[in-house]
Amino acid sequence: QFHMIKHEDLTWSESLGQGSFTHIFRGSKTDQRDGVTHSTEVLLKVLDANHKNCWESFFEAASLMSQISHKHLLLVYGISVHKSKNIMVQEFVKHGALDLYLKKSTSVSVSWKLDVAKQLACALNFLEEKNIAHGNICAKNLLLAREGDPSTDNSPFIKLSDPGISMALLGKDVVLDRIPWVAPEVLNTLEIELECDKWSFGSTLWEIFNNGEAPLQGLDPIHKQQFYEHFSNLPALEWTELADLISQCMQYQPELRPSCRSIIRQLNSLITSGNTQMYTSPFMVT
Ligand code: ATP
Ligand code: MG
Repeated sequence: QFHMIKHEDLTWSESLGQGSFTHIFRGSKTDQRDGVTHSTEVLLKVLDANHKNCWESFFEAASLMSQISHKHLLLVYGISVHKSKNIMVQEFVKHGALDLYLKKSTSVSVSWKLDVAKQLACALNFLEEKNIAHGNICAKNLLLAREGDPSTDNSPFIKLSDPGISMALLGKDVVLDRIPWVAPEVLNTLEIELECDKWSFGSTLWEIFNNGEAPLQGLDPIHKQQFYEHFSNLPALEWTELADLISQCMQYQPELRPSCRSIIRQLNSLITSGNTQMYTSPFMVT
């Protein structure tokens, strides 16, 4: 069940690029409230015409996001269907995707990154309590609503985006490309369980603390697959307590991965450990 938005209520602005089987635009939506016309900035996700068979899965992602509400989950306003075009209408998030933000920013503090990690863990805890698996956690799907500023105690604020089209429909090449975010067991089952998100959380943590650098960047699909076949681990971060949390999340046996409560507890102790100034990313150039 979702809200249908009339196509004539949408205005289209510039393209923001492409996603998995999607084309993304900035735009706005108008609606009437109390006899007054309101305009809201939105993000328009259009399903590719040559993947039209994925529309059910695409709308399922929209429906999932509109049924649940949490401050760290992206708002989906509804869907719009125009001729053969399927469009997801969602909240426009000012500072865009976290991976791009981290790549272009020269110095982001450790406490800023820990804040972001904790907000993501809170969103995952909420989903875990509702027994909902997301299935596409990565820094690209974390959107930055507020930049924040560590020097003034103004925290960043992130929102987790929709999971998009189901893994079962995306095809093998896309799934392999999602290594190491996609949990290893998904390669066989193409089914998403709660534990899968813990694995993805681990690799997203790695990504955040390496300033948006994609883990296993540049590896071709065959070598990515071998990485899992050999039960390999990502290079450990310098900060041992953080590296330990990442490796707990990225355990090949799903049932050994920590609960969200345990993840939050560990993040809290990292935040209060007072060592946060000492550790910067091993690859960070300052
Ligand atoms: P996937 O299902 O693989 O996540 P997608 O269709 O969601 O694919 P993305 O690659 O996640 O597409 O997003 C493409 C780009 O669009 C992002 O890098 C980001 O810059 C921008 N973007 C996505 N969603 C939003 C949003 N709600 N607000 C602002 N920018 C966004
Ligand atoms: Mg996305």
